Amino acid sequence: MSKQAPVLNKERRFPTNMKCAHELLLMAKNGTKGNSKGDRYAMPAYNVTTYQGIDAAIEAAETLGGSCLLAFSNSALKHFGKGDAIRGLEFVHEYVKLAARYSSVPIATHLDHGDYIGADGRKVVQKAVETLTSVMADNSTDHAAKKPTELAQNIEATREVVDMAHPLGISVEGELGVLAGVEDEDTQSEFSTYTDPEELKTFLKDTGVLMLAPTIGTMHGPNKGKPGDVVKLNIELANECLAIADAMNPDILFVAHGASTLYPNVVDFACENLSGLGKLEEEINTWKNFVGTDWDQITGLIKNGFVKINTDTENRQTYLAALIGALNNSASKIDIRHYEKVTYKALVQSYIQKYIMAGNVGVWHGPKIDVKNFKFDLNA
Ligand SMILES: [Zn+2]
Repeated sequence: MSKQAPVLNKERRFPTNMKCAHELLLMAKNGTKGNSKGDRYAMPAYNVTTYQGIDAAIEAAETLGGSCLLAFSNSALKHFGKGDAIRGLEFVHEYVKLAARYSSVPIATHLDHGDYIGADGRKVVQKAVETLTSVMADNSTDHAAKKPTELAQNIEATREVVDMAHPLGISVEGELGVLAGVEDEDTQSEFSTYTDPEELKTFLKDTGVLMLAPTIGTMHGPNKGKPGDVVKLNIELANECLAIADAMNPDILFVAHGASTLYPNVVDFACENLSGLGKLEEEINTWKNFVGTDWDQITGLIKNGFVKINTDTENRQTYLAALIGALNNSASKIDIRHYEKVTYKALVQSYIQKYIMAGNVGVWHGPKIDVKNFKFDLNA
């Protein structure tokens, strides 16, 4: 590829309180909060699938004065659009734009795992460039053929997205290597490959992406290993990749996919209430057997330069645990709002907990709660 990739247009102005994801993430990498610079922190990217989830993620960010990054997968967009991802983009675009107007913190919107290989995927990515503030061009896998793409094909497809998005001020996240596991029905893989550092140089140079998801051993989904396992990440490889990228352009940001950890209190809460509902041992064991990434390793990644941390599973679990608890307490309360309030409150807590863990606190204004004494409690 001879011609230079277009740089990200940083002059683009988005609707009130909406920002390009790269801008907020670069602040995290540089430790920028208000007018001061401190320790590096990270931004959890929450995969939202409902309007309730959008509201909860924004409320959590406002509670802490942190930045908000909402990620939408293809299947989530189909859900928003009654089966049509393009329509889903239109709905969330209008909804988030309005929510942002009332928000005390900036919000970025991001397409998760946009596929620019398949014809349908291309249309979704194109529409996302028009409606969101950031997109992921995940071309490391040919999902139709169920195999990894060749480097050249990944580069070509990703570069096309950068050519389209960067001049409009929309950041692009590329993926190099294939992540194993099941993210949702549209993103799953039975195989995985680590990122090759040599390929990384070529990929970054030729595509011009400023956000990169390398494969370093994280996995999608709620079962990241056998019960009792500690998921081992390849930190050495992660650091090697970071050093390469930093030397090329310090504005390049790294993204950890499959970084969901588990909240043991949520699992306990769910198991207790499932017992209360007289559920079978089998169902309870499913909860007990979930395995996440352990947070200590994620903390290490953040320190070294991973600033976008994708999480989903623990928030879904929190929602479900809260719903199980509500049903165990009273399954005869005929009021949709009651169950919505219970699950909403739980989601907000789940999001707050992860923001605190990532250090995404006091970026835009002081937190509205006593962060040190925050207690994530589904009984509260
Ligand atoms: Zn992912």
